[in-house]
Amino acid sequence: MKNPASTIAIHWIRRDIRIEDNRSLLSAFQQDKPVLIAFIFDQDILDKLDNPEDRRVTFIHRELQKLQHQLEGFGSTLHVGYGKPEVVWNQWIRDFQLAGVQIDSVHVGRDYEPYAQARDRSLASLFDEHGIAFKGIKDHVIFEKSEVTKDDGLPYTVFTPYSKKWRKTLTEGHYAKAESLEWCSSKTLVQRNEVNTTELPSLESMGFRQVDLVDQWVPSKKIQPQTLHSYGEKRDFPSVAGTSRLSLHLRFGTVSIREALRSGLRHSEKWTTELIWRDFYQTILYHFPHSATDSFRPAYDAIPWDNNEAHFAAWCEGRTGYPLVDAGMRELLATGFMHNRVRMVVASFLCKHLLTDWRWGERFFARHLLDFDLASNAGGWQWAAGSGCDAAPYFRVFNPSAQLAKFDKDEAYVKRWVPEFGTARYPEPIVDHATARLRAIDTYKSVLKPT
Ligand SMILES: Cc1cc2nc3c(=O)[nH]c(=O)nc-3n(C[C@H](O)[C@H](O)[C@H](O)COP(=O)(O)OP(=O)(O)OC[C@H]3O[C@@H](n4cnc5c(N)ncnc54)[C@H](O)[C@@H]3O)c2cc1C
Repeated sequence: MKNPASTIAIHWIRRDIRIEDNRSLLSAFQQDKPVLIAFIFDQDILDKLDNPEDRRVTFIHRELQKLQHQLEGFGSTLHVGYGKPEVVWNQWIRDFQLAGVQIDSVHVGRDYEPYAQARDRSLASLFDEHGIAFKGIKDHVIFEKSEVTKDDGLPYTVFTPYSKKWRKTLTEGHYAKAESLEWCSSKTLVQRNEVNTTELPSLESMGFRQVDLVDQWVPSKKIQPQTLHSYGEKRDFPSVAGTSRLSLHLRFGTVSIREALRSGLRHSEKWTTELIWRDFYQTILYHFPHSATDSFRPAYDAIPWDNNEAHFAAWCEGRTGYPLVDAGMRELLATGFMHNRVRMVVASFLCKHLLTDWRWGERFFARHLLDFDLASNAGGWQWAAGSGCDAAPYFRVFNPSAQLAKFDKDEAYVKRWVPEFGTARYPEPIVDHATARLRAIDTYKSVLKPT
């Protein structure tokens, strides 16, 4: 290492793969020390992914390459580790000490998932032992934790009053742009020749393979005002490009939530409400971490699920004989995305028509969705199952054929994903709607209202 910077601040990227409008990075700059930007491929997370061609790993890798390139433009570099975060940080702290570099502080965007909370708690002790300040900054959401609560200080569990209070509490400061990119320069960032650089590990070295990410399925980071203007009319029709497709970027922080909100406030009240749903589910997960794995309403954990494996396989593979359900599942398998209206239909179908535990569906989505986000996914699934905080009532059972007639009436979406629909090769429905509906209502009723 030549001319080491003697004291540095580190911005550790987790759910914020960008240097634009990044509050944690800005906080690192405000220490007035050279800033190093770091990322860890977390083995605790990667080891749980059973598909070596997981699209999300390729996406992250690709975004980090772009970031590396951007940082090289400032003479800097991305410091990358691979392993369990505690092991990597121990190693980095030792390496920097040996090189005569003191880490002043580590800055992160806060993450509200139970795993992340536990990880950060244990890392806080490690940093403390070494005299390193560990600064968690709100970056991934507009409001976090208890910033929007009922008047008695308790968290909201119903969306509408939450959203009203959310809007009432909002000030410009909550969505002001963080000038983090503007701070980036060869003077403020640790220079490449000042640290022992770590290369971006190859996907293969971590047990993954590069996937061809069809650009069509990796949406643009640009928020299109015309999409937002027509959002209210078009959002429910899966055959048209009526939604923003921003979920992947909001999940990995490749677009800032504040940038999204600034667009929402300018162009669409309805779309802004969807961003509030996202905050709502993050807050629910933070206050009720059990809701990631257990029913938010405990009574629903007593439902005697049928859990028929053959039915579940038909659902996963998109061969239930219900065209809208099958189209959605095939869109998911092919692209890693599914339209929101269709997510609601397939989830309701699995929990109600097939009486399958919502957790089976939630885990399947978790494996396949490019935009998988624990808070929104568990929230969406529990909404469909009826077990969630502000869920569809258990007796509301979507009729998949009526949904098709309403939201894909010329069958453009279905024909796109289920080419054999309408031919002899298309399977008969695996369950009869009317019978399955009654079975669901009776089963739910038997545990929710014992006689
Ligand atoms: C069963 C089920 C599972 C879901 N799983 C996920 C998930 O893992 N990750 C995820 O991001 N969303 C999830 N959603 C919510 C929603 O389907 C997606 O956010 C949306 O389809 C993404 O498309 P878009 O970016 O075009 O959304 P737009 O309609 O353009 O909405 C803009 C943004 O608002 C947020 N948003 C929209 N709807 C919701 C919602 N209902 N709940 C929370 N946030 C919302 C997303 O960040 C989205 O990108 C799920 C919904 C259901 C019913």
